[in-house]
Amino acid sequence: MFKNAYLNGVMETVIKRNPAEPEFHQAVREVLESLEPVIEAHPEYEKAGLIERLVEPERVITFRVPWVDDKGNVQVNRGFRVQFNSAIGPYKGGLRFHPSVYLGIIKFLGFEQIFKNSLTGLPIGGGKGGSDFDPKGKSDNEVMKFCQSFMTELSKHIGADTDVPAGDIGVGGREIGYMYGQYKRLRNEFTGVLTGKGLTYGGSLARTEATGYGLCYFTDEMLKDAGKSFEGATVVISGSGNVAIYATEKATALGGKVVALSDSNGYIYDKNGVDLAAIKQLKEVERKRIKEYVNIHPEAEYHEGCSGIWTIPCDIALPCATQNEINKESAEILVKNGCFAVAEGANMPSTPEAVEVFQSGGVLFGPAKAANAGGVATSALEMSQNSMRYSWTFEEVDAKLHDIMVNIYRNSRDAAAEYGMAGNFVAGANIAGFKKVADAMMAHGIV
Ligand code: NDP
Repeated sequence: MFKNAYLNGVMETVIKRNPAEPEFHQAVREVLESLEPVIEAHPEYEKAGLIERLVEPERVITFRVPWVDDKGNVQVNRGFRVQFNSAIGPYKGGLRFHPSVYLGIIKFLGFEQIFKNSLTGLPIGGGKGGSDFDPKGKSDNEVMKFCQSFMTELSKHIGADTDVPAGDIGVGGREIGYMYGQYKRLRNEFTGVLTGKGLTYGGSLARTEATGYGLCYFTDEMLKDAGKSFEGATVVISGSGNVAIYATEKATALGGKVVALSDSNGYIYDKNGVDLAAIKQLKEVERKRIKEYVNIHPEAEYHEGCSGIWTIPCDIALPCATQNEINKESAEILVKNGCFAVAEGANMPSTPEAVEVFQSGGVLFGPAKAANAGGVATSALEMSQNSMRYSWTFEEVDAKLHDIMVNIYRNSRDAAAEYGMAGNFVAGANIAGFKKVADAMMAHGIV
């Protein structure tokens, strides 16, 4: 598997100790592959058991979430919080509410979060949480009941200086509001324990936009370095949630034409460029399915099934839905159709085989932990504003986000080049993110 025997041993233990968690294995394997030259150059890491410690979460919490639905039936979901690594700051990472959530998904996301958070240059450790609860089709009252029950247990484990969760799939402003209300009631304190809060109670301007905007800032910098740009480019974006919507907004502002968006049922293709105001109304206000778009724009097409979106010819692809949504076949079609850049808004949306197709096909490839770090970076800016009890303007936050994304791109590029892998931003991001965490862990001794 790896040339390095130490890393081989660690990987074997990860698989043995965490059976039936393929997404977690996939995330660890990808990072360890990139770290091979670093481990060879730094034998002190092996001596300190650094990698064994890095792949084992500091704490895993699972809990029962009982609640009563609108018909009076008792429902029971499972809640998770994985506090993966606090070497460089309090645990930080989103909460995902989706029926596919189980411990392996939360561990893969929490592990990725360690390096992503480090890459932002801000003092935040890695964590992730969530539940197999599905907010789709639930009333506001049911979502509130669930969020209150979830937070009743979670509140025992988090805190503004300990662990600061945020949103992710299925957790937006409404859910954060209900959870914050419950935390405040239980603790009788008004602290920045969650990010992605509403603007009336401690939220940061530009947090809603941050992941999608940041993705485009990263992509823009990567394109510029290769003598290309968004200007006049055809862009395909999967998903139609928070990340996809604001990636569409910024890609369009930078001169691109976004022709497709999707949800977990299917995708729309609008050759004139998608009408973002209509999408926002459908998804953010009415919480409807993407297929409704063709009722507003009959000249657009709707197709059932998600993966077909990657058959639409485009210059730039921004996967912003979920993990493993681009497989080898989809990647090959994208390359064949002339796609020259892929940047990941979602977490781990490309399978390892798809990444290989992009890299060997000469496609500029921005991996999630670098390209989508703008969300958590702005969450950290929200934490700073909460600590100061002060708010920056939209322009101030956006300018900081822009600088952070440009730095993430440059640090990833430079780290890749330093270890002889120029142009491989997957390796560069992993190495650049790892170094700071490794230094801090070495300084803390065996803990
Ligand atoms: P949302 O819940 O707002 O939107 C998710 C979108 O992806 C929806 O359109 C959803 O469709 C679609 N989707 C979800 N699961 C699947 C699936 N199994 N197959 C196809 N489509 C699916 O989530 P976000 O936009 O916040 O998150 C999207 C991705 O970005 C995730 O990978 C998340 O981890 C990542 N991310 C998010 C950040 C943030 O700040 N929000 C920060 C960094 C990364 P449907 O409505 O049908 O479920």
